[in-house]
Amino acid sequence: MVDKNCIFCKIAREEIKQEKVAENNSFFAVRDIKPTAPGHTLVISKKHYVTLLDIPSKLAKDMIDLIKKVSSDLLDEKYGDGFNIIMNNLSVAGQIVMHAHVHVIPRKEDDGLRFVTKVKN
Ligand code: AMP
Ligand code: ZN
Repeated sequence: MVDKNCIFCKIAREEIKQEKVAENNSFFAVRDIKPTAPGHTLVISKKHYVTLLDIPSKLAKDMIDLIKKVSSDLLDEKYGDGFNIIMNNLSVAGQIVMHAHVHVIPRKEDDGLRFVTKVKN
């Protein structure tokens, strides 16, 4: 499962050189090229799945384990005092790179960031 024009498949295959800050059998992590906050990291499937729905459930442990490792490393490295986990699934939800990935965004007090929430009148 590889899409030859997909940027994340190219990073997975090391056709594009980019530092992997962590990895396991099924996922790897790189810093986001346009970070929302310092340390913003993407946890990306090694195989080309499009959304969460395409990722086999048997990979769930690998996925959560790498999200937890990245998040705890970011706290240890003082990128933030908390963190958000976000996954955009399909275009209407803001997915731009059509290869499944999870954002880990470090948060600090008064960092001015806001995430998608429905505001009721
Ligand atoms: P999404 O809207 O969830 O599809 O987000 C895609 C994310 O991938 C954006 O935050 C981009 O800044 C990030 N991105 C795109 N290309 C690269 C790249 N080559 N290396 C790291 N991050 C990237
Ligand atoms: Zn891909």
